[in-house]
Amino acid sequence: MVDNCIFCKIIAKQIPATIVFEDEQIIAFKDIHPKAKVHLLIVPKKHIATFKEISANDGDLLGHMLIKTKEIAEEHHLNDYKLSVNVGQHGGQEVFHLHLHLMSAPN
Ligand code: 5GP
Ligand code: ZN
Repeated sequence: MVDNCIFCKIIAKQIPATIVFEDEQIIAFKDIHPKAKVHLLIVPKKHIATFKEISANDGDLLGHMLIKTKEIAEEHHLNDYKLSVNVGQHGGQEVFHLHLHLMSAPN
C-alpha cells in the first residue's frame, strides 16, 4: 500500500470501483472513463509503479496477470480486443501503479 496511490486505495477498498475479478494477486475493475464498450484495468495488488520497474522476481505475478486477463476477456465474451500498457509520463501513463488496459474492439 503506497500513500496517495489511487489503485492501492481501490485494492484496499478505501475508494469504490466496479470490481469484475479479484484474487490474492490481482484485481480487475472497470475504467472510470471507458474508451471502449468494455474497458477494464487489470492490476497487480503489489504496488509496482511502472512497467519499467518489473523484475525477474515478478515473472510469476505477470504470467498470472496475463492468463487471468485472457479468462476475463472470455468471461466478457470478447472475441477481438486490445491490450495495452502505457509506460511513463510520455508513454501516456497517468496512474503510477502498473496496470493492463483490456479494451473491447469496436463492433
Ligand atoms: P494510464 O493512463 O495510467 O495508462 O491509465 C489510467 C486509467 O485509470 C485511465 O484510463 C483512467 O480513466 C483510469 N482511472 C483513473 N482514476 C481512476 C479511478 O479512480 N477509478 C477507476 N476505476 N479508474 C480510474
Ligand atoms: Zn499502488
